[in-house]
Amino acid sequence: MQIGCPTEIKPQEFRVGMTPSTAGEAIAHGHSVIVQSGAGLGSGFADDEYVAAGATLADTAAEVFANADMIVKVKEPQAPERAMLGEGQVLFTYLHLAPDPDQTRDLIASGATCIAYETVTDRRGGLPLLAPMSEVAGKLAPQMGAWTLQKANGGRGVLMGGVPGVTPARVAVIGGGVVGTNAARIAAGMGADVTVLDRSLDRLRYLDDAFGPAFRTRFASRGNTAEEVAQADIVIGAVLIPGAAAPKLVTRGQLSTMKPGAAIVDVAIDQGGCFETSRPTTHQDPIYEVDGILHYCVANMPGAVARTSTLALGNATLPYLLDLADKGWREACMSDPHLRAGLNVHAGRLTVAAVAEAQGLDA
Ligand code: NAD
Repeated sequence: MQIGCPTEIKPQEFRVGMTPSTAGEAIAHGHSVIVQSGAGLGSGFADDEYVAAGATLADTAAEVFANADMIVKVKEPQAPERAMLGEGQVLFTYLHLAPDPDQTRDLIASGATCIAYETVTDRRGGLPLLAPMSEVAGKLAPQMGAWTLQKANGGRGVLMGGVPGVTPARVAVIGGGVVGTNAARIAAGMGADVTVLDRSLDRLRYLDDAFGPAFRTRFASRGNTAEEVAQADIVIGAVLIPGAAAPKLVTRGQLSTMKPGAAIVDVAIDQGGCFETSRPTTHQDPIYEVDGILHYCVANMPGAVARTSTLALGNATLPYLLDLADKGWREACMSDPHLRAGLNVHAGRLTVAAVAEAQGLDA
């Protein structure tokens, strides 16, 4: 199979769908890989590295789309990319179709088979191609919180780990899933005094078992959450209710109970955010202030560390990519119900009920 990897064209997207290493793996399986020249640069991969792995280079995205049986990307195809997709082609990438009727219409019209990373499932009920980005965002959250707390950014001027004789920063992590666990680990590793709140007792049991005294766990009742928020130097929002907007767990009124100059890092902002005062920000202008509290609400946090994110995404997508290439999409999806859950559009039809329902279409 000919696999194509174009340069991402969504603004501020520096990741790439295939690394030289994943290209090399596909080539070792007998496939050929065509990469757009410069596609890897944002993640620190030079054209030469792809060529050394056995890939061929194309000057334009049009050349990649015209020659590939399967296109591997990161972000949902933008309008010019959708115009280049053709019948019988396979597209493997993040799609997030539910809130995007224009993209849905174009993909249906293209006749292509579109498999979305975010709806591929695993045996434990997880989302294996979303998890790596949650791991990245979770590990980044305390780093960004610590930076936000610095005086020059308008923060309280508190050092995460404290020093001998001075207490460390207090960090409250609301939501102890993939983002929350990674955030708590890093914050604790920086020496902060960390509490993780979750409404799932099973999750709190797991965290207690796995991490022992590295951080506290607390049931996320309204009262407990309010208490932790009031005492925190940094509050990290990491909740998720699958398929729904994030619940607003901290009101504007509660900001006045917080320490002036404290920081909120709302990782759940891509689902609307779990603080009433959150609104999406960008890496260029990441922080704003409401009632003396600093808010960091960057919707695509993994973009800040594009190289790590690309490598992590490549590790997770590789087995599915090889399966799709080795068996063809039909047999690969037939033999693996978890990969089949990723099938969103095929032959002019939507194949996921949730997206069809969100847009009033047939599936
Ligand atoms: P997850 O499903 O692994 O974890 C979510 C946790 O929230 C679960 O443990 C759940 O029990 C808990 N929860 C649900 N409602 C709660 C409540 N009311 N109070 C306390 N806990 C509650 O999800 P995840 O992968 O950790 O993702 C968390 C959020 O981060 C999602 O909104 C995701 O989209 C977002 N995210 C954002 C970025 C970014 O760049 N901003 C990157 C990756 C993920």
